[in-house]
Amino acid sequence: MVKYKSFKIDTDIKGKADVSKVLMIYTGGTLGMVYDQVKKTLVPLKFEEIQKNIPELERFESALDIIPIEPPIDSSNMSPSVWIELATLIAEQYDDYDGFVILHGTDTMAHTASALSFLLENLAKPVILTGAQLPIGVTRTDARENMMTALELAADKVDNETILHEVCIYFNGRLLRGNRAKKYESSQFDAFQSENYPMLAEVGIYCVYNRPYMLPKPEGKFSFSDSLNRNVLVLKLFPGISNAFVKQILATENLEAVVLETYGSGNAPSDNEFLHLLKDASEKGIIIYNVSQCSGGKVRQGDYDTSRGLLNADVISGKDITTEAAVCKLMYLLALGNSITETKRLLQENLRGEVVD
Ligand code: ASP
Repeated sequence: MVKYKSFKIDTDIKGKADVSKVLMIYTGGTLGMVYDQVKKTLVPLKFEEIQKNIPELERFESALDIIPIEPPIDSSNMSPSVWIELATLIAEQYDDYDGFVILHGTDTMAHTASALSFLLENLAKPVILTGAQLPIGVTRTDARENMMTALELAADKVDNETILHEVCIYFNGRLLRGNRAKKYESSQFDAFQSENYPMLAEVGIYCVYNRPYMLPKPEGKFSFSDSLNRNVLVLKLFPGISNAFVKQILATENLEAVVLETYGSGNAPSDNEFLHLLKDASEKGIIIYNVSQCSGGKVRQGDYDTSRGLLNADVISGKDITTEAAVCKLMYLLALGNSITETKRLLQENLRGEVVD
C-alpha cells in the first residue's frame, strides 16, 4: 500500500442523496505552474498552493478527494515508474470512488493515458486526464473549464451507473479516448486530437456523448499490472537515413522492440541493405512495429512495393495506432513475459480500443 497525503474538498453535497465520489490526482503540468522570477521559467507548484485559485471546487456537486503526487512535475519528466505509481494508486482506491481525474502536463498526457489504458484491465469507471495550456493563476486560463468539466464527466452517472469505462483525455470541449489521442497543438487551447477515432463526447452548453464509440462496461473483474518493460525505442524514418546508424540502433544492448515510424500507409525505403538490417533484427527476436508518421489513416503493408519488403522482414503492422500508444503497448506486453510469438500476436489484437479490429 503506497502512502499518500489525501485531502477532502468541502463540496456542495449537503442534503443531496446518492452523490458520486471522485478522486482527483495532481501530478503537475502547466495547470499548476507559476513563473519563477529567478529561473525565468514556468515551474510546478504544490496543489495546496494553487487550490486558492479554484473556488469553483467548492461548488462541485459530488464528493471530492485530492491526492497530490510528490513532487509535482513538468510532464516532460514523466516516466514508467510514475505510470505504475498512478495505476497502483487507482487500483488501491478503485472501490471507494465512482471516477478518477488526473491533472497532468499536456506534453506527455497522451503517453500517460495510453500507459494507464493498458495497465488498468477491465476498467469499469472513468479515468480522465486533463490539464491546461495556461496556468490556473492566469486570467485567461483554460485550466478551470478543463478541470471542472473533467470532474463532472468523472462523476456523471445514469440510473446510478457510471457512463464511461475507460481512460480518456478531456480538453477544450472534447472528450477523447486516451490511447487514441495526440498532442498536436502547443499554442492554441485545442491541444489534443484523435484523428483516427471519433470524440467520445462533445461538451458545450450540454455534454453530448457519442455512445456507440465508447467502450462497453467490461464483464471481467478489475485488475492492474505493475510492470512495464523499457527496452523499446522509436526509429523515425526520413529520406537519407543512414544504414550505418540504423545498424547501430538495432544493435543496442537489451533492445527488445522498435516502433518504426514509416511514411504514409506504412512505407519505407526498398533499399536491400536497410531491409536486411530489419530482417536480421527480427530474426534475433527484436519486434519491429510499423506505425505511420501520419496522424490519420492506417498502415497497410503490401499495398505499395515500398512496404512489401517490410512484410518479408517480419515487421508487424501497427494499423492505425498512435506512436504514443504503440510504445506503451510494447512496454506493457513485453513486461508480461510471454514468448515473442505470443507478444506479436497480442500486438495485433485490439486490447483497449487502441486500434481498429
Ligand atoms: N511542459 C508542460 C507539461 O507538460 C506543458 C503543459 O502542461 O501544457 O508539464
